[in-house]
Amino acid sequence: MRKFSVSVFRQQFPILQTVNDNHKLIYFDNAATTQKPQAVITSSVNFYQQSNANVHRASHFLSVKATTAYEQVREQSKAFINAKSIKEIIWTKGTTEAINLVAHSYGMNYLNQGDEIVISQAEHHANIVPWQYVAKVTGAKLVVLPLTPQGIIDLTAAKSLISKKCKFLAINHISNVLGKINPVKELIKLAKQQGAVTLIDGAQAIAHLKVDVQELNCDFYVFSAHKMFGPTGLGVLYGKQELLEEMPPYQFGGEMIKKVSFSGTSYNELPHKFEAGTPNIVAVVDFGACLRFFDNIQHDQMATYEQQLIDYVFTKLNDIKALKFLAKACPDIPLFSFTLQGIHHQDAASFLDSKGIAVRSGHHCAMPLMESLALDGSVRVSLAAYNTFAEVDYFVEQLHLFCSGEAEQSNQHRIHDHREGVEQADVDRVISTNAEFISADEVLALFSSAKSWDLKHRQIMLLAKQLVRLDKALRNEDDLISGCESQAWLKVKFNSQTKQLTFQADSDAKVIRGLMVIILSVYQHKTGQQIIDFDIEEYFSHLGLMQHLSPSRGNGVKAIVERIKQIAYNYQ
Ligand code: PLP
Repeated sequence: MRKFSVSVFRQQFPILQTVNDNHKLIYFDNAATTQKPQAVITSSVNFYQQSNANVHRASHFLSVKATTAYEQVREQSKAFINAKSIKEIIWTKGTTEAINLVAHSYGMNYLNQGDEIVISQAEHHANIVPWQYVAKVTGAKLVVLPLTPQGIIDLTAAKSLISKKCKFLAINHISNVLGKINPVKELIKLAKQQGAVTLIDGAQAIAHLKVDVQELNCDFYVFSAHKMFGPTGLGVLYGKQELLEEMPPYQFGGEMIKKVSFSGTSYNELPHKFEAGTPNIVAVVDFGACLRFFDNIQHDQMATYEQQLIDYVFTKLNDIKALKFLAKACPDIPLFSFTLQGIHHQDAASFLDSKGIAVRSGHHCAMPLMESLALDGSVRVSLAAYNTFAEVDYFVEQLHLFCSGEAEQSNQHRIHDHREGVEQADVDRVISTNAEFISADEVLALFSSAKSWDLKHRQIMLLAKQLVRLDKALRNEDDLISGCESQAWLKVKFNSQTKQLTFQADSDAKVIRGLMVIILSVYQHKTGQQIIDFDIEEYFSHLGLMQHLSPSRGNGVKAIVERIKQIAYNYQ
């Protein structure tokens, strides 16, 4: 096996050569999904070109070829996590589906009124909501383990909270927000002593740790292939055979059936009992290529390199005065969540995006954790072994620049602008007299000279200043726009004589305020019909801002436009 070299490793990921708008892609969103090596990409093409057929169903040579390739990966997966048998490896479409499978098949059938399901404060929604639902239906109670200030599940608290009533423990191996390894082995032991069944959400651990399910002694372990350089649409549910044998199927049809008649149906054996319908065959085969790719990595050396990255990023970020980490400890994987004093997380992420750096901002599907930290989101920077120190240097340099630029602007703002927190009377005045709102032609002129994404982004941020802020007391739930990662509000006034609509909008994120100004440049003081007739997509396309109208909930502009159109329909 070759020595781990980041440059050689990196070369295997073609997407990392991307240059967008003169910026080399720096991909720091690996906790969301990792990039794919050529071996995985080629596997997909080869399968469709040479082996494509449905699995298990036919005896023709192509089906045999596909089925053999497909089932071979189950063997590889068994070895990868040290399961006892291939019967313990169930294909799902991801971690989320794997947890749902266990929640429905085990939770709904074996948990009862008064039982306790124990999770932690730092779970991904995928490991909260299915259990919340099971609790609601069965009458079981959800118990939440607190965290230490260092961001790991508090073992001392767990000792008293995992009681005889605990019948199920479902916790993450590594939090997707805090990046700390939880003491899962000890927690599994505690739960076992009380006779509880255990599930570990390994979505963030699988790419970084050597997982041995027998050593952990968990009942279920779940992960997604796409977070470990593998394909999307595939997850693994590991379950102890004796439990899986006992559990009823989760979905019905296809390969999970042994015999069907109108007088009754018998189910197939494990693992097929839990795999209804045509599976994601190509993803399974590609996962085989991913596991071979993994086998060829010098893991100790890769882990050493990742540790160097962790230490480097942590030290560098610690130098940024405005930056505050969510947990009071260095993470165990290269995943850093932080806030920046006085700066909205979405503004930081969109600025970094304008420099070619892909990071994540928002609640990271962990709203209860954010709530416990009294935050509405954070910036999350997550690296993989193909990221380099040079990328880190560039990122930190840009973040420094951004923070100092923002600090300077907010000082100026304090001196020159006292409009934040205006009163209702002021809002009414602005709403009714805002005839001077920037026009679409002016916006088009501004953007026609801003060619690069960098400049467009700067322009959006400058436009944000045009929006009169809404007083906090006026930001109510009814005006809140769902679909935005940052908070955004929209108020409307209808003039029954002119039939015109006048909007007042606000958001916590400056970038959203800027985009709202652009939206309102065409919708302000227009009738419902005029709003409906206007082609906003064409307008955004002219401005070179189509990425902001994407269905991604990343920025929520689409949600704002949809809310305005809905209002326009009502006032047609
Ligand atoms: N659990 C954790 C800890 C995660 O980080 C994620 C995804 O980010 C999930 C569950 C859900 O994974 P998937 O979307 O692949 O089902």
